[in-house]
Amino acid sequence: MTTTPAKPTTPVIFAGHMVYNHRFESGRTGSRFLRELRDNKKIMGLKCPDCNKVYVPPRSTCKECFGKLDKWVEVGTEGKLLTYTVLRVARDAEKDVLKKQLPVAYGIIKLDGADTGFVHMLGEVDLDKIKIGMRVKAVFREDERKGNILDINYFKPVSNARKR
Ligand SMILES: [Zn+2]
Repeated sequence: MTTTPAKPTTPVIFAGHMVYNHRFESGRTGSRFLRELRDNKKIMGLKCPDCNKVYVPPRSTCKECFGKLDKWVEVGTEGKLLTYTVLRVARDAEKDVLKKQLPVAYGIIKLDGADTGFVHMLGEVDLDKIKIGMRVKAVFREDERKGNILDINYFKPVSNARKR
């Protein structure tokens, strides 16, 4: 029996889809942020001492000047909706995560005192009346908060009476 040496080939790549449960440590910055949500219902950011940019969610390095960030600041639980999308169809994996009735709206919110966008769901809102620039506020879980981003249930519109 003869064997033919393998010729160099390019690897065959196929697209797959994995769904798996996992746990990972949130890191020093992420852990502080999540503890404040869970224990104090506060949204905290990190401020760059050089360019004064406030990151929410916090990050340990300024992406503008690469400075190390360790000055914690509390930002508002209200902010302005920068943009949004409405999810009307979920893939199987998303259905498990959402555990909510579709459609659901996701927004990017610039919290008062922050310079970056914070992604979360929008709630208590008529999906046809969402407007970029509208003011929204965080609605925290009042039952057992677990130290994850869903300690905020969603952001809801601030009523016109309280609009700034
Ligand atoms: Zn900076």
